[in-house]
Amino acid sequence: MNIKREKWSNNFSEWFDWVISEGEFYDYGRYPLKGVGIWLPYGFKLRQAIIDIIRQLLNNTGHEEVLFPMLIPEGLLKKESEHIKGFEEEVYWVTKGGSEDLDVKLSLRPTSEAAITFMESLWIKSYKQLPKKYYQIVSIFRYETKATRPMIRLREVTTFKEAHTIHSTFEDAENQVKEAIEIYKKFFDILGIPYLISQRPEWDKFPGAVKTYAFDTIMPDGKTLQIGTVHHLGQHFTKAFDFKVQKADGTLDYPHQTSYGISDRVIASLISLHGDDRGSVLFPLVAPIQVIIIPIPSKNTDDTNKILEYSENVKSQLISAGIRANIDKDTEKTPGEKFYIWEIKGVPIRVEIGLREVQNSSVTLKRRDTLESKAVKLSELITEIRKLLEDIENNLKSKAWESFNKKIFYAKTVEDANKILEKGGVVELPWCGDNSCGLKIEELTNAKVKGIPLESKKINDSCVICKKPASNVLRIAKTY
Ligand SMILES: [Zn+2]
Repeated sequence: MNIKREKWSNNFSEWFDWVISEGEFYDYGRYPLKGVGIWLPYGFKLRQAIIDIIRQLLNNTGHEEVLFPMLIPEGLLKKESEHIKGFEEEVYWVTKGGSEDLDVKLSLRPTSEAAITFMESLWIKSYKQLPKKYYQIVSIFRYETKATRPMIRLREVTTFKEAHTIHSTFEDAENQVKEAIEIYKKFFDILGIPYLISQRPEWDKFPGAVKTYAFDTIMPDGKTLQIGTVHHLGQHFTKAFDFKVQKADGTLDYPHQTSYGISDRVIASLISLHGDDRGSVLFPLVAPIQVIIIPIPSKNTDDTNKILEYSENVKSQLISAGIRANIDKDTEKTPGEKFYIWEIKGVPIRVEIGLREVQNSSVTLKRRDTLESKAVKLSELITEIRKLLEDIENNLKSKAWESFNKKIFYAKTVEDANKILEKGGVVELPWCGDNSCGLKIEELTNAKVKGIPLESKKINDSCVICKKPASNVLRIAKTY
């Protein structure tokens, strides 16, 4: 066992690799293919719990789950020209079936706007059928040429939740964008993941979108991570597919679309943002195991048997109360070694049971987030655990937001922005709104423009580049 703990804040990248492998979430870098990973049983359960939340939020707002083919024929993918231009260098192509060359090249879906628009054009004839809100949770493939990273930059993204909606009017699609943003806010709030919502600049929109909004969080090393995007697609795809529907007045017109997605990055940020030097600290709502019971054996075998029996009883009480609990009965490991491993795995509450606890009809509880311990009578066990799980969630949420808010800065000059960016975080700069000034800011700061705030900010300063009055702030950051 590797007993070296990694520093969460000053050595984040190593910390993350260490936690996902030692904590048995995800095996990365050993499968003989770059940019792909394996969800291990423990990580898979966490992933499943997170998927359940987004699925419920979408189902409750009239979205319907579908499943489209992974292969998209070249002709479909290339229909919308901006779209394919944006993805061209990242598409995987299947060109052979066995030893025969295929007549038509097939792409492994990089995203599904083209495939879904094509089928919608067969299904939808009248405005009366609108709106439609579809979503699927699938793997997508992108030939990333930048350095790949587990869960963060992959060639196969395994948890791509893509929603695709279609509407009669531009305004209806605009309202759908608002609904999507609200759904994602709720989703990230449930998980205690802090975010900024920005409208991406013209030069960084999704290929084929009229407007792109994105959710960014800030990782422990100060770099931003895009964790969700929402696109107003307008009529770009429906026009490319010459797909018209009949309107209320009997005329035909192209319908308007939106799409929005999240990925494995949500799981990466959940593990990272709530963690500490000892490992992950899992959010109780989605923790595969909420309570781990560690029996502390005695030198006397009879006593040890009593401890084990008592531990089993505690476990059944917890499970009957709907709490996800388990006992670590491994006889090869010392209690200290078990504490170490369950801390990396981030189990929210540890229950220690030794002879003293058996004799006192009590347990000792230790919370993972604050590392505080307390003795609790068995009769109060369930009430105490429920209260603790709730406290842990509230504490994780407020700690994450507190540290996030400290990483948002305002600078009136490019020089000041550069100084702040060395330490990480997001810098807001006064900006006149001209793309040329925005691009200049990107060039002079060697950072990425994240865009303007969803709610624009009134400021009295002048644009850092042209010195004209600023109409808004522009957000920049070092980014993943
Ligand atoms: Zn300017």
